[in-house]
Amino acid sequence: MQPIVLIHGGAGTIAEELHEAALAGVSAAAEIGRRALQSGADAVTAAVAAVRSMEDEPAFNAGRGACMNADGDIEVDAGIMRSWDRRSGAVGGVRELRDPILLARLVMEQTPHCLLVGQGAEALARRHQLGHFGRAEVETTKARERWLVARSGQGARDNRADTVGAIALDHRGHLCAAGSTGGVLLKIPGRVGDTPIVGAGFYADPDLGACCCTGVGEAILTHMLAYRALTLAAAAPEAASARLRALCAEISAAHAGAAIGLILLRPDGQRVLVHQSDHMSWAVADGEQPVIAGLRRE
Ligand code: ASP
Repeated sequence: MQPIVLIHGGAGTIAEELHEAALAGVSAAAEIGRRALQSGADAVTAAVAAVRSMEDEPAFNAGRGACMNADGDIEVDAGIMRSWDRRSGAVGGVRELRDPILLARLVMEQTPHCLLVGQGAEALARRHQLGHFGRAEVETTKARERWLVARSGQGARDNRADTVGAIALDHRGHLCAAGSTGGVLLKIPGRVGDTPIVGAGFYADPDLGACCCTGVGEAILTHMLAYRALTLAAAAPEAASARLRALCAEISAAHAGAAIGLILLRPDGQRVLVHQSDHMSWAVADGEQPVIAGLRRE
């Protein structure tokens, strides 16, 4: 099996001054995932390594750089699923954590549960001495400035262009989907979007493939987008791109023009990257070929 890594850095409108950083960040994540696969790591380790690199990059709304809620606090969400036994793990509403994808992986691998939230998730991390907690680990000038502008009623109230996601296909044909986000700028404290919700924000299945979504979480949740996209692609692989582009447009139209995007990888390596938004930063590392990346996908 030819290893493949697909990355997204969020659907929405990416401010011009962030274009370069977004492209560099998604390209670096694809390369990091590929190197992990080349060194024999499985799809989970590769997808986590790719997401971790973007959680550390302040240009993205995940980990360090996550957006702030209405109270100015930072609450993050992350989710992960592996195809071979359909195990998933996720965390929601975790305060001031720089590496929530590690905690989601811990939920998947070391608990009988799929989703832990808030203090329970934080306690699990502390029990396993995992993760970097604290305001200094997550706060960035970019996020504070955006929060101040949004709170004063100027500028965009949302910040949906820079959530992160990764899909890896390893040499054994195993798939993993992983995503991490700060959610939505000025969200009501406690709000959780699609990113940690299996079937909506992400899914991985041995027969269908793997999918990660981005955009307005409430719209994605309503349409169970990740699972729905995978079943649509499986029903007509040759028309998958066109059908999924139409599905994103349809959901966006039903939700006041909400940004909607997804990356999807079928078990045979066929990939789909589509979005209904001004931008969606993305990157692909396919086998030994040079990484390709962009801010829009036709
Ligand atoms: N889907 C994320 C959320 O609603 C945001 C995003 O993808 O940009 O929390």
